[in-house]
Amino acid sequence: MNKKVNQEVISFSANKKWLAIPEATRRELERNVWCGNCLDVVQIVNYVVKDSPHGIVLEGNCKNCEKNVARVID
Ligand SMILES: [Zn+2]
Repeated sequence: MNKKVNQEVISFSANKKWLAIPEATRRELERNVWCGNCLDVVQIVNYVVKDSPHGIVLEGNCKNCEKNVARVID
């Protein structure tokens, strides 16, 4: 239970960093995610923003095949 709360706090700060990026850039990043299943660059959907050691990371699903994909933003 506590762990879940902590993750939400972390996501909140990561979300602020994400929203600090200009919207046009964010849209570009959403459409420039590598999918290991499609072996292609795809759009990420249903994603959450999390902190990573190198910045933030988007974790969500491939728009084409719905497999899990992630994109590190540094
Ligand atoms: Zn895919």
